[in-house]
Amino acid sequence: MSTPPISPRDDLALVEGYHSPQLDVAVRLNTNESPYPPPEGWKRELAAEVERIEWNRYPDRAAAKLRAAVAGFHGIDPATVLCANGSNEALQALCLAFGGAGRRAITFEPGYALHAWIARITGTEVVEAERAEDFTLAPDAAMTALEKAGPDLVFLASPNNPTGLVEQEDTVAAVADWAAAHRAVLVVDEAYAEFAPWSALDMVDEGRTLAVTRTFSKTWSMAAARLGYLVGPPWMVGELEKVLLPYHMSAVIQAAGRLALGWSDEMHGRVASLVEERERLVRALDELSVDVWPSGANFILFRPRGLPGAEVWQGLVDRSVLVRNCSSWPRLRGCLRVTVGTPEEDERFLTALREILAS
Ligand SMILES: *Cc1c(COP(=O)(O)O)cnc(C)c1O
Repeated sequence: MSTPPISPRDDLALVEGYHSPQLDVAVRLNTNESPYPPPEGWKRELAAEVERIEWNRYPDRAAAKLRAAVAGFHGIDPATVLCANGSNEALQALCLAFGGAGRRAITFEPGYALHAWIARITGTEVVEAERAEDFTLAPDAAMTALEKAGPDLVFLASPNNPTGLVEQEDTVAAVADWAAAHRAVLVVDEAYAEFAPWSALDMVDEGRTLAVTRTFSKTWSMAAARLGYLVGPPWMVGELEKVLLPYHMSAVIQAAGRLALGWSDEMHGRVASLVEERERLVRALDELSVDVWPSGANFILFRPRGLPGAEVWQGLVDRSVLVRNCSSWPRLRGCLRVTVGTPEEDERFLTALREILAS
């Protein structure tokens, strides 16, 4: 690439683009997508709805029907819901409104790489605090890090990615109290909440500075749609609306999300089979020479014992199975992350892994 004639903002010099490598393989277990498509009935409803779109008109700016449908799904007030192009857009809005130049965000590592990345591209300073060796975060450790960093924005993901660990309830409650008392916003990223035993959604309250983000990308089998949302107090939703582009939600995704919510039984059914399959996969991995972390999500973090992670990853690729290679990431030396697939896909993964570990 030739040198560009002008330079971007100085603070972008250290920011690298986000990459999630894709390879042409038979079994793709690297990006935590659902292995199952959404229902055919939903696809038919959406096709009919798309027929009726008035293409010459702007979409509903407030996404009122979608908002009401999301609120109905959770049994909450529509004024607490903000819809977005993927939960990543909601995270970006949080950074634009409550972060930015002169403000600071804190992440607890290892965690979701995009929290720090989105914060940085919005000009927010990022402090990376450490989790314990086993990737848990105790309330007192969180308090110490918060007191030291004095952040305006706090990011937690529960279940966390790439570890799969569900955050302790007492930790989230303590961090939420700290945030409210120190004029900071706590963001709990719940991209995988439906797979997990508890959610911070019930903690959202007018008096708290807490936002919970959710996505249609994983549990709803709709990664292609780019649809997510945030639940927070109405005053916060109001501030976030100021930084979103007008008409950011296309008529197509508004309809896609609203109609999908009518198929929630099917979603819960897919989630239940994936959770069952996850437990089967954990038991199978426990039999092998790998360390396995407990997961509340649709993926599992593991570390081969005695063989370098990168070598195992390549061995899997050679057998046409792609998992996420985290082996060179800070704090995750030798680790790989496998998405729960169909039983057939998982069998191919396990067979390949057994072969590699035995060689
Ligand atoms: C996959 C994932 C998301 C999803 O982001 P979208 O923009 O909604 O697709 C968000 N947070 C975490 C932690 C994830 O792993």
